[in-house]
Amino acid sequence: MKYFNSNYFTYRNNQLFCEEVPIQKIIKKVGTPAYIYSKKFFIDRYNEFTEAFKNVNHSIFFAIKSNFNLNVIKLFSNLSAGLDVNSAGELHRALKIGINPQKLLFSGVGKTRREIEEALKNNVLMLKAESEEEIYLIDQIAHQLAKVAPLAIRVNPNVDAQTHPYISTGLAKNKFGISSDEALRIYKDAAKLKNVRPVGIDMHIGSQITSIEPYKEAVQKMADLFFEIKANGIELEHFDIGGGMGVTYNDEIPFKPKELAEAILPTLKKLNCEIMFEPGRFLSANGGILATEILYTKKNGDKNFLVVDASMTDILRPSIYGAYHHIQPIEKNGTDDIIADVVGPVCESGDFVAKDREIVKCKSGEFLAIMSAGAYSMVMSSNYNGRRRGPEIIVDKDKFFITRSRETFEHLLYDEKIINELF
Ligand SMILES: *Cc1c(COP(=O)(O)O)cnc(C)c1O
Repeated sequence: MKYFNSNYFTYRNNQLFCEEVPIQKIIKKVGTPAYIYSKKFFIDRYNEFTEAFKNVNHSIFFAIKSNFNLNVIKLFSNLSAGLDVNSAGELHRALKIGINPQKLLFSGVGKTRREIEEALKNNVLMLKAESEEEIYLIDQIAHQLAKVAPLAIRVNPNVDAQTHPYISTGLAKNKFGISSDEALRIYKDAAKLKNVRPVGIDMHIGSQITSIEPYKEAVQKMADLFFEIKANGIELEHFDIGGGMGVTYNDEIPFKPKELAEAILPTLKKLNCEIMFEPGRFLSANGGILATEILYTKKNGDKNFLVVDASMTDILRPSIYGAYHHIQPIEKNGTDDIIADVVGPVCESGDFVAKDREIVKCKSGEFLAIMSAGAYSMVMSSNYNGRRRGPEIIVDKDKFFITRSRETFEHLLYDEKIINELF
């Protein structure tokens, strides 16, 4: 079987550690399934990214939809990152850590009136509009609040990010942004409105992008547009490249930030404005694991199954994208490998973590680590089948901290009540 190569999750005497803490020690305390994050990973990743672009005026906005744990976002914010939020709920979380709202971007293809109001009342750095109708609504709401809304328009550069169709966003056929053919006219119209001020241009072409070409192509298209807009008297202050930088889950070899910088810096420097990035997955995915217990092992015909206590409610990516996550034992015992499906307890055939996976033979009661669970894992969790969300733990060297505990059954009921009149 293959083991994931990480400097943050390593084996010592056959025991998996996160930094200096044995995973066993954590799960003894909090049980499984549990999300476990390495603080050092987040810091090192952020520093690697910002270092690569140090020769250009830039800001990094962590896309908190990938991991919105308050402590994770505060770690990035303390490193001077801003945050990219996608909803009023994410805005609420971001404000909870006491971040300056001028370090917040508000994104999203379908912002509600209320979300636009919240963003404006809280003075976020800018709202990213994704349609003409939205621009007019933002103008109207800003007028009512006696404000001028700082606006970036998300332009769809129509490039193929060569990623999974569900996470490709920069093609004309995708729902995101406005078409680049219409962008200039829309900028000119927006500039005439009293209560919006176009300050930026934005793109986000997809997620888990592993090659530089789509970025090169899109940045070039957007830069041409930036200068066209400028020639029409609209000076933009920000050029936002979005996120999407891919990571290794299996055997992908994604580009390094430094390589991306080398490819696009010459174009970026000519713009003479602030460059923005919104990485999510890049900063978080490989900083976490999901620890799970093997409940049962069984064989149906020729097929081996490991039934684990983590499911699609804890890590949805395999079910919806067929995504790959390495799975490896928390204590290395066996030597022989088997081919098995690793499945959860939920009543859906789509509830699997891995299919036909080569994995070392293990027994019920042993624990597995589902790797690369720092992004799009906890944030996509659900209570389907009456399941409680698991705890999130952050490891800092030889200490670990429970940042939220497992949900209780009370959480599941919230304020639901029996209505006597119905019976
Ligand atoms: C999802 C998203 C991101 C982050 O994407 P990653 O692939 O996790 O880097 C950034 N910006 C916007 C607008 C997004 O929707």
